[in-house]
Amino acid sequence: MNDSGLNHLAPRDQIDLGLIAGTPIEALCGVNFVPTLRVGASGAADNPSLDVCTACECVMELIEEQNELAFKHRRVKAAIKAVKEAARLKVPA
Ligand SMILES: [Zn+2]
Repeated sequence: MNDSGLNHLAPRDQIDLGLIAGTPIEALCGVNFVPTLRVGASGAADNPSLDVCTACECVMELIEEQNELAFKHRRVKAAIKAVKEAARLKVPA
């Protein structure tokens, strides 16, 4: 439970640990709370009837954006490597 009156978000593995150990975890917004139940795939915890914390939602969106950028970065890096490899193969020895 948390006394902020909001449904905070936290990484799934942290929620699982908090549920098992009954110890506080840090929400994405920085608030510490002890998760009491697990809801949804997004990692939402605590009372689902409460409003989701907007700061947690904002951080979640930024994390998703960060993951997308990391994916694009890896794809671009692989494409650069492939172009370099193709160019290297065309150069006569
Ligand atoms: Zn929060």
